Amino acid sequence: MSDFETPRGTGWIEVICGSMFSGKTEELIRRLRRAQIARQTVIVFKPVMDTRYAADRIVTHDNVSIPSVPVRHPRDILERAREAQVIGIDEVQFFDRSLVEVCQELADAGKRVIVAGLDTDYRARPFEPVPQLLAVAEYITKTHAVCVVCGNPANRTQRVVRRGERILVGGAEAYEPRCRRCFEPPEEASGELFVEGESRPAEGKEEA
Ligand code: ZN
Repeated sequence: MSDFETPRGTGWIEVICGSMFSGKTEELIRRLRRAQIARQTVIVFKPVMDTRYAADRIVTHDNVSIPSVPVRHPRDILERAREAQVIGIDEVQFFDRSLVEVCQELADAGKRVIVAGLDTDYRARPFEPVPQLLAVAEYITKTHAVCVVCGNPANRTQRVVRRGERILVGGAEAYEPRCRRCFEPPEEASGELFVEGESRPAEGKEEA
């Protein structure tokens, strides 16, 4: 990290978030690689359901990758991260809210926790548990893609296929980055920013 001083004698949480194609995973990998060069012990996790590229690596759209441990539940991270100094977690929007407590516990135990994920869903609404992570994090980085319509910095993810579920794992065939002006909310979207009890896929069910 170059944009803030590293705290001493404590852990902390960093959040990297933005739309799809905004370089979140690239930035996560960059920070983790620097920690490895500094001879810190690093472990990386990703949700089991994100198997777009590889089961045991996190991979950028440009095919840069780093080994990762696939986990189904946030609590599995606690057990596996015990020996690490630096913990990376990618695609955090696919975990439930218990991830927030897990990140807190790790940071309280003196670890550097770096999480990356989508801050909003395809309706441009806050994508739990990222809002909660943003609230408790020490450091936040918002990454931006380029709006495919006008070239502005883009922080919205436009779904270009007509599908109603909140979680639809896909790439350029299903999503494109758009700016605030060019983003078109899907027809079924309500005006509410926060919706309680937003549906999630049931445990163990994977979508593609
Ligand atoms: Zn635009």
